[in-house]
Amino acid sequence: MKKIAENLQLVQSRIDSAAASCQRNSSEIRLLAVSKTKPAALVREALTCGQREFAENYLQDALPKIGELADESLVWHYIGQIQSNKTRDIAAHFDWVHSIDRLKIGQRLSAQRGPDQKPLQCCIQINVSGEVQKGGVEPDQLMKLAAALAELPRLQLRGLMVIGSNTKDNDITRSEFERARTLFEAMQTQYPSVDTLSMGMSADLEAAIVCGSTMVRIGTDIFGARQ
Ligand SMILES: *Cc1c(COP(=O)(O)O)cnc(C)c1O
Repeated sequence: MKKIAENLQLVQSRIDSAAASCQRNSSEIRLLAVSKTKPAALVREALTCGQREFAENYLQDALPKIGELADESLVWHYIGQIQSNKTRDIAAHFDWVHSIDRLKIGQRLSAQRGPDQKPLQCCIQINVSGEVQKGGVEPDQLMKLAAALAELPRLQLRGLMVIGSNTKDNDITRSEFERARTLFEAMQTQYPSVDTLSMGMSADLEAAIVCGSTMVRIGTDIFGARQ
Protein backbone atom coordinates (compact mmCIF):
# COMPACT_ATOMS: atom_id res chain seq x y z
CA MET A 1 0.00 0.00 0.00
CA LYS A 2 1.19 3.48 -0.81
CA LYS A 3 1.90 5.93 1.92
CA ILE A 4 -1.01 7.87 3.32
CA ALA A 5 0.61 11.18 2.39
CA GLU A 6 0.65 10.14 -1.24
CA ASN A 7 -2.92 8.86 -1.10
CA LEU A 8 -4.15 12.10 0.42
CA GLN A 9 -2.45 14.03 -2.35
CA LEU A 10 -4.00 11.82 -5.00
CA VAL A 11 -7.47 12.24 -3.50
CA GLN A 12 -7.00 16.00 -3.24
CA SER A 13 -5.97 16.18 -6.87
CA ARG A 14 -9.06 14.20 -7.88
CA ILE A 15 -11.16 16.70 -5.92
CA ASP A 16 -9.37 19.58 -7.63
CA SER A 17 -9.90 18.22 -11.13
CA ALA A 18 -13.54 17.30 -10.51
CA ALA A 19 -14.15 20.81 -9.20
CA ALA A 20 -12.36 22.36 -12.17
CA SER A 21 -14.42 20.25 -14.58
CA CYS A 22 -17.59 21.98 -13.40
CA GLN A 23 -16.17 25.45 -12.68
CA ARG A 24 -16.32 25.02 -8.93
CA ASN A 25 -13.71 26.17 -6.47
CA SER A 26 -12.24 23.12 -4.74
CA SER A 27 -11.97 25.07 -1.47
CA GLU A 28 -15.78 24.63 -1.25
CA ILE A 29 -15.31 20.88 -0.86
CA ARG A 30 -14.20 19.43 2.48
CA LEU A 31 -12.42 16.12 2.64
CA LEU A 32 -13.30 13.72 5.46
CA ALA A 33 -10.94 10.83 5.98
CA VAL A 34 -13.02 7.77 6.87
CA SER A 35 -10.85 5.95 9.40
CA LYS A 36 -13.34 3.22 10.37
CA THR A 37 -11.62 -0.09 11.27
CA LYS A 38 -8.19 1.58 10.94
CA PRO A 39 -5.89 2.07 13.93
CA ALA A 40 -5.14 5.37 15.65
CA ALA A 41 -1.59 5.20 14.30
CA LEU A 42 -2.90 5.66 10.75
CA VAL A 43 -5.06 8.57 11.86
CA ARG A 44 -1.91 10.16 13.30
CA GLU A 45 -0.11 9.59 10.04
CA ALA A 46 -2.89 11.42 8.16
CA LEU A 47 -2.79 14.14 10.77
CA THR A 48 0.90 14.79 10.15
CA CYS A 49 -0.12 15.50 6.53
CA GLY A 50 -2.56 18.16 7.72
CA GLN A 51 -5.76 16.09 7.62
CA ARG A 52 -7.88 17.05 10.66
CA GLU A 53 -11.38 15.75 9.91
CA PHE A 54 -12.10 12.07 10.38
CA ALA A 55 -15.23 9.95 10.12
CA GLU A 56 -16.20 6.75 11.89
CA ASN A 57 -19.20 4.50 11.78
CA TYR A 58 -18.68 1.80 14.39
CA LEU A 59 -18.90 3.24 17.87
CA GLN A 60 -16.99 0.48 19.67
CA ASP A 61 -14.14 0.92 17.22
CA ALA A 62 -14.27 4.73 17.30
CA LEU A 63 -14.35 5.51 21.02
CA PRO A 64 -10.93 4.12 21.97
CA LYS A 65 -9.41 5.83 18.95
CA ILE A 66 -10.97 9.18 19.83
CA GLY A 67 -9.67 8.73 23.37
CA GLU A 68 -6.18 7.91 22.18
CA LEU A 69 -6.11 11.03 20.02
CA ALA A 70 -7.69 13.35 22.57
CA ASP A 71 -4.49 15.40 22.77
CA GLU A 72 -4.95 16.47 19.14
CA SER A 73 -7.53 18.97 17.94
CA LEU A 74 -9.43 16.80 15.50
CA VAL A 75 -12.95 17.01 14.15
CA TRP A 76 -14.83 13.73 14.46
CA HIS A 77 -17.81 12.88 12.27
CA TYR A 78 -20.20 10.00 12.99
CA ILE A 79 -21.49 8.50 9.74
CA GLY A 80 -22.90 5.11 10.79
CA GLN A 81 -26.39 3.91 11.56
CA ILE A 82 -27.61 5.08 14.95
CA GLN A 83 -29.40 2.91 17.48
CA SER A 84 -31.08 4.67 20.37
CA ASN A 85 -28.76 3.17 22.96
CA LYS A 86 -25.75 4.70 21.17
CA THR A 87 -26.84 8.33 21.17
CA ARG A 88 -25.29 9.23 24.53
CA ASP A 89 -21.76 8.29 23.43
CA ILE A 90 -22.23 9.88 20.03
CA ALA A 91 -23.45 13.14 21.60
CA ALA A 92 -20.52 13.15 24.02
CA HIS A 93 -17.65 12.33 21.67
CA PHE A 94 -18.43 13.57 18.16
CA ASP A 95 -18.56 17.02 16.59
CA TRP A 96 -20.78 16.05 13.67
CA VAL A 97 -23.43 13.40 12.96
CA HIS A 98 -24.37 12.71 9.34
CA SER A 99 -26.83 9.89 9.76
CA ILE A 100 -29.92 11.20 11.51
CA ASP A 101 -32.98 9.64 9.88
CA ARG A 102 -35.68 9.98 12.52
CA LEU A 103 -36.81 12.54 15.04
CA LYS A 104 -36.38 10.36 18.08
CA ILE A 105 -32.64 10.07 17.44
CA GLY A 106 -32.34 13.84 17.03
CA GLN A 107 -34.24 14.44 20.26
CA ARG A 108 -31.99 12.09 22.19
CA LEU A 109 -28.81 13.59 20.72
CA SER A 110 -29.97 17.09 21.60
CA ALA A 111 -30.97 16.12 25.14
CA GLN A 112 -27.67 14.30 25.72
CA ARG A 113 -25.34 16.91 24.24
CA GLY A 114 -23.34 18.45 27.08
CA PRO A 115 -24.25 22.03 28.05
CA ASP A 116 -20.61 23.09 27.76
CA GLN A 117 -20.14 21.56 24.31
CA LYS A 118 -20.79 23.30 21.01
CA PRO A 119 -24.10 22.29 19.42
CA LEU A 120 -23.82 18.99 17.58
CA GLN A 121 -23.53 19.65 13.84
CA CYS A 122 -26.09 17.49 12.06
CA CYS A 123 -26.99 16.20 8.65
CA ILE A 124 -30.07 14.22 7.77
CA GLN A 125 -29.38 11.02 5.88
CA ILE A 126 -31.63 10.77 2.86
CA ASN A 127 -32.51 7.63 0.93
CA VAL A 128 -32.56 8.53 -2.74
CA SER A 129 -32.00 5.03 -4.04
CA GLY A 130 -35.34 3.54 -3.08
CA GLU A 131 -33.53 0.48 -1.65
CA VAL A 132 -35.42 -0.45 1.50
CA GLN A 133 -32.45 -1.88 3.40
CA LYS A 134 -30.60 1.43 3.10
CA GLY A 135 -30.78 3.86 5.98
CA GLY A 136 -32.10 7.36 5.47
CA VAL A 137 -35.35 9.23 5.47
CA GLU A 138 -37.61 9.03 2.42
CA PRO A 139 -37.54 12.22 0.36
CA ASP A 140 -41.21 13.00 0.99
CA GLN A 141 -40.57 13.00 4.76
CA LEU A 142 -37.48 15.19 4.61
CA MET A 143 -38.94 18.65 5.16
CA LYS A 144 -41.03 17.52 8.08
CA LEU A 145 -38.00 15.98 9.80
CA ALA A 146 -35.86 19.04 9.03
CA ALA A 147 -38.45 21.35 10.59
CA ALA A 148 -38.55 19.30 13.78
CA LEU A 149 -34.76 18.97 14.05
CA ALA A 150 -34.27 22.68 13.47
CA GLU A 151 -36.19 23.34 16.69
CA LEU A 152 -33.91 21.22 18.87
CA PRO A 153 -31.71 23.42 21.06
CA ARG A 154 -28.44 21.47 21.11
CA LEU A 155 -28.33 20.52 17.42
CA GLN A 156 -27.40 22.66 14.47
CA LEU A 157 -28.91 21.52 11.21
CA ARG A 158 -26.20 21.65 8.53
CA GLY A 159 -27.57 19.64 5.62
CA LEU A 160 -27.93 16.27 3.99
CA MET A 161 -25.93 13.06 3.76
CA VAL A 162 -26.34 10.64 0.86
CA ILE A 163 -24.83 7.24 0.14
CA GLY A 164 -24.96 6.44 -3.56
CA SER A 165 -26.10 3.02 -4.73
CA ASN A 166 -23.40 0.44 -5.03
CA THR A 167 -23.38 0.37 -8.83
CA LYS A 168 -20.96 0.87 -11.66
CA ASP A 169 -23.69 2.56 -13.68
CA ASN A 170 -22.74 6.21 -13.64
CA ASP A 171 -26.18 7.28 -14.85
CA ILE A 172 -27.83 5.80 -11.77
CA THR A 173 -25.31 7.46 -9.48
CA ARG A 174 -25.73 10.79 -11.23
CA SER A 175 -29.51 10.74 -11.03
CA GLU A 176 -29.43 9.90 -7.31
CA PHE A 177 -26.94 12.67 -6.64
CA GLU A 178 -28.96 15.16 -8.68
CA ARG A 179 -32.02 14.25 -6.66
CA ALA A 180 -30.07 14.86 -3.45
CA ARG A 181 -28.89 18.22 -4.73
CA THR A 182 -32.46 19.32 -5.46
CA LEU A 183 -33.55 18.35 -1.95
CA PHE A 184 -30.52 20.07 -0.44
CA GLU A 185 -31.32 23.29 -2.30
CA ALA A 186 -34.90 23.13 -1.06
CA MET A 187 -33.60 22.88 2.52
CA GLN A 188 -31.24 25.78 1.98
CA THR A 189 -34.09 28.10 1.04
CA GLN A 190 -35.63 27.51 4.48
CA TYR A 191 -32.72 27.12 6.86
CA PRO A 192 -29.81 29.58 6.80
CA SER A 193 -27.58 27.15 8.73
CA VAL A 194 -27.79 24.54 5.95
CA ASP A 195 -24.56 24.56 3.95
CA THR A 196 -23.45 20.94 3.75
CA LEU A 197 -24.15 18.27 1.16
CA SER A 198 -22.22 15.22 2.39
CA MET A 199 -21.96 13.11 -0.75
CA GLY A 200 -19.26 11.06 -2.47
CA MET A 201 -17.00 8.16 -1.45
CA SER A 202 -13.87 6.65 -2.99
CA ALA A 203 -15.71 5.26 -6.02
CA ASP A 204 -18.01 8.17 -6.80
CA LEU A 205 -16.38 11.36 -5.58
CA GLU A 206 -16.16 12.91 -9.06
CA ALA A 207 -19.88 12.41 -9.76
CA ALA A 208 -20.69 13.78 -6.31
CA ILE A 209 -18.67 16.95 -6.83
CA VAL A 210 -20.18 17.59 -10.24
CA CYS A 211 -23.59 17.26 -8.56
CA GLY A 212 -22.80 19.83 -5.87
CA SER A 213 -21.22 17.91 -2.97
CA THR A 214 -19.57 20.11 -0.34
CA MET A 215 -18.09 17.25 1.71
CA VAL A 216 -16.69 13.95 0.48
CA ARG A 217 -16.13 10.94 2.75
CA ILE A 218 -13.11 8.94 1.61
CA GLY A 219 -11.91 5.76 3.29
CA THR A 220 -10.41 3.15 0.96
CA ASP A 221 -8.51 5.56 -1.27
CA ILE A 222 -6.77 7.10 1.76
CA PHE A 223 -6.24 4.21 4.15
CA GLY A 224 -6.46 1.19 1.86
CA ALA A 225 -9.03 -1.60 1.65
CA ARG A 226 -10.81 -2.78 4.77
CA GLN A 227 -11.09 -6.44 5.85
C1 LIG B 1 -17.24 3.45 4.74
C2 LIG B 1 -18.01 4.68 4.38
C3 LIG B 1 -17.44 5.66 3.54
C4 LIG B 1 -16.09 5.51 2.87
O1 LIG B 1 -16.17 4.58 1.85
P1 LIG B 1 -14.92 4.27 0.87
O2 LIG B 1 -15.56 3.59 -0.29
O3 LIG B 1 -14.01 3.38 1.63
O4 LIG B 1 -14.31 5.56 0.50
C5 LIG B 1 -18.18 6.81 3.30
N1 LIG B 1 -19.40 7.00 3.84
C6 LIG B 1 -19.97 6.08 4.64
C7 LIG B 1 -21.32 6.35 5.20
C8 LIG B 1 -19.31 4.90 4.94
O5 LIG B 1 -19.88 3.99 5.73
